[in-house]
Amino acid sequence: MLLPRAQPLSAEQPVTYKVSFPAPEHHYAQVEVMFSDVTGVVEARMSRSSPGRYALHEFAKNVFDLQAFNGAGKPLATGRPNPYQWNVEGHDGTVRILYKIYGDHVDGTYLGIDPTHAHMNMPATLLWARGLDSRPVRVTFVPPATGAWLPATQLFPTVDPWTFTAPNLQYLMDSPTELSAQTIRSFKVSNPDGKTFTIRTAVHHDAGDSEMNAFVAGVEKIVKEHGSIFGEYPEFDTGTYTFLGDYVPWGGGDGMEHRNSAVVAADVSLRTPGMVSEVLDTVSHEFFHAWNVERIRPKSLEPFSFEEANMSGELWLAEGFTQYYGNLVMVRAGLVPVSQGVAGLVGAATAVMNVRADSSDRRSA
Ligand SMILES: [Zn+2]
Repeated sequence: MLLPRAQPLSAEQPVTYKVSFPAPEHHYAQVEVMFSDVTGVVEARMSRSSPGRYALHEFAKNVFDLQAFNGAGKPLATGRPNPYQWNVEGHDGTVRILYKIYGDHVDGTYLGIDPTHAHMNMPATLLWARGLDSRPVRVTFVPPATGAWLPATQLFPTVDPWTFTAPNLQYLMDSPTELSAQTIRSFKVSNPDGKTFTIRTAVHHDAGDSEMNAFVAGVEKIVKEHGSIFGEYPEFDTGTYTFLGDYVPWGGGDGMEHRNSAVVAADVSLRTPGMVSEVLDTVSHEFFHAWNVERIRPKSLEPFSFEEANMSGELWLAEGFTQYYGNLVMVRAGLVPVSQGVAGLVGAATAVMNVRADSSDRRSA
């Protein structure tokens, strides 16, 4: 049977989320999502893919304790036509869904929650509803009362430091968010036309000021070298680009590009000698992506599908260029010797030529 999909009425009512962490030691988030001014069956879905990670991931498997209510708080029955979807009907124009989502995996794709942080990739965290993609979104995070967490994200800020907006579903899903007692610093870059942008480093780490100074100084060198390749910086949508750094030994390793931010993570301590320059390599790779793939983008990746993985042959050409320039900039910025830059390229080429066909995971996309 074909069911009518939820359709927005005239004004585009925002989709609102509240994300809280009542027991971070148990690695889950409590999410409340409200869809207003809807008619017909609301088809709530968890994504099966994530921008930058071009493969299927069944994020629905981490959802539990899901309940739906109408605008008056009356419980509503939910249908489950497939593993990724919850159908809600018989509502009064408003559907409020509460669910818990498990996550203990820090990278650029999944969700990692523990008493020190909530490291969120949105497709792994937030349910959405079919047919409401163009609606604006409002997200409020509620940090644990005991913590000293700060938020960092490419989402648009509001007057409330814990509430952010996105113009639509695509932007929301592209906006990973880190909440932790992180060190947030920034510097400015400018274009020949005088426009300035803020580059922000938001780093969850267990090191000290001297390591953070070295990291931020390295990031600044990298960002300026990339700027000189293109002659200008992209028009970052909020005027700000954010590196979401996660460098704790209990975290995970990855790099993932987004439109106005990147996740750069490693399960290390920056206190380890030589570690700061080692992690900067991923910073360089991901920042080149701010142009290449984010704005100079294979057509096959648009529009990005959260229900299937987009098929793209061009993607690997784009990744190859990024791999090359990431290494080159590390050398030009004086952060690694030429021999090490060349060894990096040789290593990447060797890995591609010898990679086993059944290798399932690729890091640093
Ligand atoms: Zn973190």
